Amino acid sequence: MKKVQHYINGKFMDSQCGEFFDNFNPSTNELIAKVALGRESEVNAAVAAARAALTGEWGQMKLNDRIALMYEIANEIDRRFDDFLEAETLDTGKPYSIARHIDIPRGAANFKVFADTMKSVADEAYRMDTPDGKMAMNYSMRKPKGVIGVISPWNLPLLLMTWKVGPAMACGNTVVVKPSQVTPTTTSLLGEVMSKVGVPAGAYNVVQGKGSITGNLLTAHKDLDAITFTGETVTGEMIMKACSVGVRDVSLELGGKNPAVVFADCDMDKAITETTRSCFANSGQVCLGTERVYVQRTIFDEFVSRLKESASKLKLGIQHDESTDIGPLVSSSHRDKVLDYYEKAVAEGANVVLGGKAPVMPGKMKDGYWVEPTIWTGLSEEATVVQEEVFGPCCHVQPFYTEEEAIKMANNSPYGLASTIFTENLDKAHRVASQLDTGIVWINSWFLRDLRTPFGGMKGSGIGREGGHHSLEFYTELKNVCIKM
Ligand code: NAD
Repeated sequence: MKKVQHYINGKFMDSQCGEFFDNFNPSTNELIAKVALGRESEVNAAVAAARAALTGEWGQMKLNDRIALMYEIANEIDRRFDDFLEAETLDTGKPYSIARHIDIPRGAANFKVFADTMKSVADEAYRMDTPDGKMAMNYSMRKPKGVIGVISPWNLPLLLMTWKVGPAMACGNTVVVKPSQVTPTTTSLLGEVMSKVGVPAGAYNVVQGKGSITGNLLTAHKDLDAITFTGETVTGEMIMKACSVGVRDVSLELGGKNPAVVFADCDMDKAITETTRSCFANSGQVCLGTERVYVQRTIFDEFVSRLKESASKLKLGIQHDESTDIGPLVSSSHRDKVLDYYEKAVAEGANVVLGGKAPVMPGKMKDGYWVEPTIWTGLSEEATVVQEEVFGPCCHVQPFYTEEEAIKMANNSPYGLASTIFTENLDKAHRVASQLDTGIVWINSWFLRDLRTPFGGMKGSGIGREGGHHSLEFYTELKNVCIKM
């Protein structure tokens, strides 16, 4: 049986107590690996190694050498592309077609883009007159923040973990990563990459384990300088509380309940293609995915019927089948949670346009965590599945009459991560974009990402922005030096 281990101070290891937990293939429910369960001794060892590395070979490395290493990490991920692809698709059940184009290339790109960013960091400088008639010069410099705790989710495991590890290491910090317990493998595989390209021991550490045990121990550890977290909003609240002890900085990328606003003057083909992607890609397990669709009344019936037609063509299947569009949900507990929401939607009066249950799958897939792509209409704006994040392949479609009404409904959410607008009217697109309470707005597209742009959410969707130079705000301390001339 395959083992997934911790990676601490440059070495792969089991837990001191020898405990493991099971990891399953979501497509078939087959056991694929035994994963080491990190407890206090592993968390302490990883944090101590990360602290020591700050003053060791890693901490003393010249910026240009560090930048060169970041490119080497990216290149080695590319060289090991097939290993990452196999591990990621086995842990998540997502099709090769998605992981090959999104997860693994972005895992490598996250090191390159922040290596590029570090090449163009400028220091601020201010000259000032002094009270005694002389002059002084101020300049600011960025220093690494120190030891960063990284806690990542299961929906895009390598991509979202390296989105934090890339900038943290490019800025000269050291990291202790706790990946999701259901998708542990690529985080440990990245340890092999770090060893191969010569990243000094202690700069990148991984402690495998469950959120309630290992995650808790890591966030409570006094010797972390900051924690960056991606996951559910309720977990984010707990982590923020833990960070208040010792006044440690925290960056939170949390849940979403993202709206799409489709105006009658849209390009209908484009709106259907992009909304099919945004609702159902990765089986709806994308934080930026759409779960609420608002469609102008005059095109509502046509839109719903075309979205149904488009979604019903999506082929559920095993990850390595090239004709598969969407895979299963990531775990049996997540499948149960999503099916509970499906039942609740019906109980609250939804009209089920498509799907609504677990499909019967053939062969080995019959025991996997499958749910049908689902479309509802007819619910009130206060219904559970219109307010709460389901994180499954589903959406509710609601008609609207006026622009003001659409904006009001789109903003009626405790979340504020992303939104999409479909219209061919440029003035309207800008006007509506400026009024939607989300950190990211796409017009006539979805998931078009420039990694230099600010990424993050408003309201319950998070705190802080990451991406390009914005990541420097979190991963560095800014120090001012004042010299009297
Ligand atoms: P989760 O909050 O359950 O778990 C995320 C991570 O936190 C895991 O590693 C987990 O083990 C750990 N964890 C859980 N409880 C913990 C605790 N008490 N202390 C410390 N660590 C703990 O989230 P998930 O189910 O893995 O991911 C899905 C969620 O992530 C969705 O809400 C989704 O919207 C959100 N998400 C947000 C973004 C974004 O960029 N805003 C991106 C992807 C996913």
